[in-house]
Amino acid sequence: MKLKKSKICSEVDSKVKEIYDWLDSNIKNFNPQCTTCGKCCDFAAYGHKLFVTTPELLYFYKNIKNLKPMPAQTCPYLENNKCTARDFRFAGCRIFFCKADSEQLNRLSEQAIKKFKTLCEKYDLPYRYADLATAMNSPELLDLIE
Ligand code: SF4
Ligand code: SF4
Repeated sequence: MKLKKSKICSEVDSKVKEIYDWLDSNIKNFNPQCTTCGKCCDFAAYGHKLFVTTPELLYFYKNIKNLKPMPAQTCPYLENNKCTARDFRFAGCRIFFCKADSEQLNRLSEQAIKKFKTLCEKYDLPYRYADLATAMNSPELLDLIE
């Protein structure tokens, strides 16, 4: 039986939260150092890109309640150098640490991506892995939620 869109959204929401909890507990083991300066959220200045997956966008859109367009290459949720979406931030935001071992972080990132792909397969969601600006500016993604 095909699940209703609202049912998919609430199930995906809790599964994404589980993946983020798993990620956060793994990241704690690395004891990464971060001064929360916010520089890496200004993608153009930092020379960095943040890629996000479809289930993460659903989770973000469902929980943030304050959608912002992203006209420039700085995350619109960065205000006064602080993340205003911290509880719902993406896997890439959670994993990136400028002073950590990048190989270790890449491995964790690959594992997280695999989990998001599996989630898409389970709920028959289109899998997208797009940079934040492309994803935020894609209205068809909003169509996935009620
Ligand atoms: S990871 Fe590095 S650049 Fe990003 S907020 Fe932390 S200290 Fe700043
Ligand atoms: S959601 Fe928060 S942590 Fe992620 S890029 Fe935006 S401001 Fe930075």
